[in-house]
Amino acid sequence: MKVLVLEKSRLYQKTVREILEEIRCDVDCVGSGEEGLLLLDNNGYNLIIAGQNIFDDSSSAFIEYCREHVNHCPILLLTSEPNETLLNNARNAGIKDIFPKANIDQLRENLHYYIKGEKSITIEGGRVIYIEDSLSAARVISRNLEKMNLEVDYYGNAEDAYNAVMKNEYDLVITDVMLKGAMSGLSLVRMIRALRNHNAELPILAMTGHDDPKRRIELFHAGINDYVTKPPVEEEFAARVYNLISNKRLHDKVRQQKQALLKLALKDQLTSCHNRHSLVENAPKYISDAIRYEHPLSVMLLDLDNFKKINDEFGHDAGDKVLADIGKMLKKVFRIGDLVSRIGGEEFLIILPHCPAEHALKKAEQLRSKIENSSPGGLKITASIGIACLSEEHGSDFDRLYKSADEAVYHSKKNGRNKVTLISNKKKAG
Ligand code: GH3
Ligand code: MG
Ligand code: MG
Ligand code: MG
Repeated sequence: MKVLVLEKSRLYQKTVREILEEIRCDVDCVGSGEEGLLLLDNNGYNLIIAGQNIFDDSSSAFIEYCREHVNHCPILLLTSEPNETLLNNARNAGIKDIFPKANIDQLRENLHYYIKGEKSITIEGGRVIYIEDSLSAARVISRNLEKMNLEVDYYGNAEDAYNAVMKNEYDLVITDVMLKGAMSGLSLVRMIRALRNHNAELPILAMTGHDDPKRRIELFHAGINDYVTKPPVEEEFAARVYNLISNKRLHDKVRQQKQALLKLALKDQLTSCHNRHSLVENAPKYISDAIRYEHPLSVMLLDLDNFKKINDEFGHDAGDKVLADIGKMLKKVFRIGDLVSRIGGEEFLIILPHCPAEHALKKAEQLRSKIENSSPGGLKITASIGIACLSEEHGSDFDRLYKSADEAVYHSKKNGRNKVTLISNKKKAG
């Protein structure tokens, strides 16, 4: 196909040319209507693509000429800011179609579709669960889906399909509405939407032989995303499937990014321990679980000794290296269920669920000795540790528990540093 592109910006010309050459078009680019006029007669273009500036003075003659002499050749308009006048001018000039200019991926998609009549982007894999009780219909639809590069899990009834949705990861549910068995397609939709995990948001495409508006409305109320009547037009069906899956991909991406950001927001960058914010978020749950299930809970507060001197003597970077190594050590020493957080410059707090005082004491003593003997960051370092165990005097207030641990650290410091102190409780929790 021979295409003439009229566009002022050289950079944008290049972009459009690249898109067109991907689909093997033979492309000429010009920057104005005058240049375009010189090429029109002898080149037998099949398509003209023009930037919005085609309506500038220099190009109105081009438009005029096209209308009179090359009527067979469709003109597409690329516009960045469509407005009433522009659209009217375009319509009057016999322009065939208008595409937005700014989003290049979208433009690629549109041009590919316009020229080749097919989607340029194929969904790279994907798994569809498909429920249909008519075997002959199932065969046709399954084949269509496989042509789209999709893996199809086929079920003849909704009960088995529902179990599969609970076990597996899918990108799309396609369900017939009238099904044999106790559960209809409509019930399946309701059951999926009532799930308590991310599968509740799975895109659902309903298919039915009877296009009854009442039923359609009911299905949309139940939560389907799209609807086709059987037998579907193959291309339309493919386009709907494509849209639903690409939307889901976008949603998945947003969800992942959100999780990554959340993780980042709760982490201390230097030590990769939890930060103070994360501690404040999580501590109440640790406390309420300990009270509800009557299990012991200890907290350990660790403060590096004379750390100011370390910075003064060896520099802040060396101090940072010590902190990073201590963070690594703590994460190795404590159990997965423990919450290790850096709550201030050289202070760490660890919540130890299911850990009675004597165990916490033993663990703290091992840790104190490990820090003293392993030269974190290559420097001689010691730590003072305080332990407090949750008891009635704290109620369910984490701050009070923290204050007890802080008091314990104070004793360790007062007794010469590099010590462990356990604040003994008047009464045990529970
Ligand atoms: P003590 O034994 O009484 O705890 O003495 P200390 O010097 O450790 O205590 P102090 O609270 O007076 O000083 C803590 C020091 O920790 C102050 C600051 O220089 C250092 N510090 C705090 N945050 C950071 C950090 O992110 N990186 C580095 N390198 N040093 C930090
Ligand atoms: Mg059926
Ligand atoms: Mg301190
Ligand atoms: Mg200190």
